[in-house]
Amino acid sequence: MNKKPEVYRPANERVQDFNEVEKVLTQNELLAQLQRCHNCGIPFCHGYGCPLGNLIPEFNLAVANNDLRLAWNLLSESSFFPEFTSRVCPALCEGSCCCNIDGDAVTIRQCEKMIIETAFANNWVKPVVPNERNGKTVAIIGSGPSGLYAAENLNRKGYTVTVFEANHRPGGLLRYGIPDFKLEKHIIDRRIDLMERSGVSFICDTVVGKDISASYLKRHYDHLILAIGTAQARDLAVPGRDLQGIYFALDYLQGQNKVNCGELSKLPIDAHGKDVLIIGGGDTGSDCAGTAVRQGAKSVTQIEIMPQPPEQRSLSTPWPQWPYILRTSSSHKEGCQRLWSLSTLRFIEKNGAVGGVEVCPVNWSCSKEGKPLRFEQDLHNSKIIKADIVLLALGFCGIKATEILSQLNIDHNERKLLPYYNQLQVVAVGDCANGASLVVKAMADAQQKTNLY
Ligand SMILES: Cc1cc2nc3c(=O)[nH]c(=O)nc-3n(C[C@H](O)[C@H](O)[C@H](O)COP(=O)(O)OP(=O)(O)OC[C@H]3O[C@@H](n4cnc5c(N)ncnc54)[C@H](O)[C@@H]3O)c2cc1C
Repeated sequence: MNKKPEVYRPANERVQDFNEVEKVLTQNELLAQLQRCHNCGIPFCHGYGCPLGNLIPEFNLAVANNDLRLAWNLLSESSFFPEFTSRVCPALCEGSCCCNIDGDAVTIRQCEKMIIETAFANNWVKPVVPNERNGKTVAIIGSGPSGLYAAENLNRKGYTVTVFEANHRPGGLLRYGIPDFKLEKHIIDRRIDLMERSGVSFICDTVVGKDISASYLKRHYDHLILAIGTAQARDLAVPGRDLQGIYFALDYLQGQNKVNCGELSKLPIDAHGKDVLIIGGGDTGSDCAGTAVRQGAKSVTQIEIMPQPPEQRSLSTPWPQWPYILRTSSSHKEGCQRLWSLSTLRFIEKNGAVGGVEVCPVNWSCSKEGKPLRFEQDLHNSKIIKADIVLLALGFCGIKATEILSQLNIDHNERKLLPYYNQLQVVAVGDCANGASLVVKAMADAQQKTNLY
């Protein structure tokens, strides 16, 4: 049986709150899917798809055989925080699942979620305290997924780990970027509590570079790990950019997340009753759409300069590659108009603030496999999209905390990243090392680098 069980709460119900839109499926609901995870010889999901190298066929089989304890043991061998990836990962494993050669992939991510939530419910997840400490200390700057993963790995190896975080609470973009409707924040608190009980210390509300210098940390700790992310948002330098009402996506999302957890009492940016235009067709833009719908926006439109991807896997990304394909998120289905192949020409003023955006179509030329290569603007057919709020979701372009670099006497590369590695004394991990990417990739990078200690 190929039919996937329904994982989403009904749209009309879920837009009334900020709780997770996805349910945890039961073992029974997953069974038909897991039985499709046949013995494929070479499990590309494990070796090619999953950056953490999760033992996917093995834990799927354990669930199918009703041995959830074994499934949890197998999952926890390669992944410290499956409760995060099972909620927010795009599931690179599913893109390279053998069943995806000519049909739907097995729902691996849902199985991972069921295993980890079963493990928590049965109290199998315990703090991992090392048998002995090795006398070495580590300071980690930044508590996003890469910083947390590095902290957990090194603590298990016997290092005494302190994590410094600029924000009020640990979690990085897991907490302040990704909306609660994808990842409720008590899931992060549950993990931080375990980490503290296993011996990791967190010092929050502390901006390294300002409140405490990075050179001080380097002198006083045996190892320093930079896990500072790539907070520098990409801007759009077109006329009218300085008008009121134009915001970076992350500032918008962060405001809602802080209100949800009580850190703020009022939304800094409120879309209630407004026409919202999101520029940028990716996941951050989709998160803005879901947030704006929940805030009661009058309309939500998301525009993208790239052409609409194909409904089926494009020839430019043959299996087992991550498919270039049209992705429709739960937020898109909640009331968001999507428009493709549009270039933004200028922001238009109305009553002293933004009132609309002039856009024009772009004509793409593609490779013979269907990969978009070049575009030309069609300036004769420009049009105006009405907007009271514009959210820029155009990606990120490097690190922000440059004081740290001067204090450590190191430099970023031309992409404003830190592919930095100095005899394990100062090491950069996650997005700040490799560029804005995914939670699972940030964690896998931290895993690989801290495995060298
Ligand atoms: C809105 C949004 C939604 C996303 N959704 C998804 C998703 O659904 N799935 C997915 O896989 N990926 C998603 N991503 C990408 C993912 O969140 C990142 O790739 C990942 O969080 C990177 O982890 P990191 O640890 O490298 O950095 P971050 O998560 O950015 O953490 C960096 C941390 O360093 C701290 N820091 C920075 N400078 C200092 C300093 N000077 N002193 C102290 N602390 C400092 C920051 O406050 C922050 O807490 C999303 C990104 C955004 C922006």
